[in-house]
Amino acid sequence: MLSKEEMISMLKVHGNDVLDLMKQANSLRKTNKITFSKNVFLPLTNICRNDCGYCTFRRDPEDPDATLIMPPSDVMNTIRKADVYGCREALFTFGEQADTSPQVQDALEKFGFEGMLEYLYHLCERTLNETSLLPHSNPGILQKSELKMLKEVNASMGLMLENSSPRLMNMPAHEKSPGKDPKLRIKTIENAGKLKIPFTTGLLIGIGESLEERTNSLLELRRIQDKYDHIQEIIIQNFKPKPGIKMEKHPEPSLLDMIRMVAVTRILFPECGVQVPPNLNINTAPIFLLSGADDWGGVSPLTKDYVNPESPWPELDELERFTQEIGLQLEERLPVYQKYVKDEFLSEAIFRKIA
Ligand code: SF4
Repeated sequence: MLSKEEMISMLKVHGNDVLDLMKQANSLRKTNKITFSKNVFLPLTNICRNDCGYCTFRRDPEDPDATLIMPPSDVMNTIRKADVYGCREALFTFGEQADTSPQVQDALEKFGFEGMLEYLYHLCERTLNETSLLPHSNPGILQKSELKMLKEVNASMGLMLENSSPRLMNMPAHEKSPGKDPKLRIKTIENAGKLKIPFTTGLLIGIGESLEERTNSLLELRRIQDKYDHIQEIIIQNFKPKPGIKMEKHPEPSLLDMIRMVAVTRILFPECGVQVPPNLNINTAPIFLLSGADDWGGVSPLTKDYVNPESPWPELDELERFTQEIGLQLEERLPVYQKYVKDEFLSEAIFRKIA
């Protein structure tokens, strides 16, 4: 266990000390395997009650580019196609509480659903029953009863903590995003722990947070993990300025910032997957493997990353090439990590399907 002071000083190292930090993090690697999950991205709606300063995904319901609701036939056709491509993860990612918009509510009713989560459950159930894929859903903050219901039909679920600092709620990143209140996000992650749901979370780096706030966020996740042991992986995602977003002129974190952050995360969480999205770091991704990262996350041979459409996923053979280049081996995994393939962490339907 690292103290807060030790972590902050690690996040400040420079010169040869950076290499020592990378070495220390990399020595904790248990195997030479770097994992990824072959997935299909299903953006069920791009309507969201939040309006984050870094988002390019969200639309207003009146926007001609808005997807109020992806129709069930489109979703299932995409998943069937993904099945043919050998994908094993159906990634349902979409705007939070979209059904608070009357236009989305109307669209859902036309398809026979009362709300977003009922629609999500239906799609996850059909995915399980009709295809070889396993659902992984990221619906935003949820009540415990909602998590419990979705556990029945999900192999794992996810919610980025982003950062545990309430200060960011008064900054461009989150000032218009009630769902980014860290208290609500921590509660969701903890409730998932109480329900034993294998969980993916992570931090967004470079959105106006201090080194101390990065450290506090990691320590908060460590506290939760010590209590519930359900966090399968931690994503360390770098903020990217993009044209047209509110934070367009906000600087991105430096490569060194990211290296130090990945290394400290690995040292603090030796038992978890540490993921850096390769599509956001196309020229620098391999360096994170030398800093303790061991997972590339979901990689889709079929659909683009709708949240970062300007950053295409590397092809699988490209991922394999730069993984092998540094002496490591690419290995496909399921959306639920092997450690959590146990009946206490999975519903009967999911456990049976994996078996
Ligand atoms: S980043 Fe996510 S939560 Fe924030 S506005 Fe975009 S879709 Fe909504």
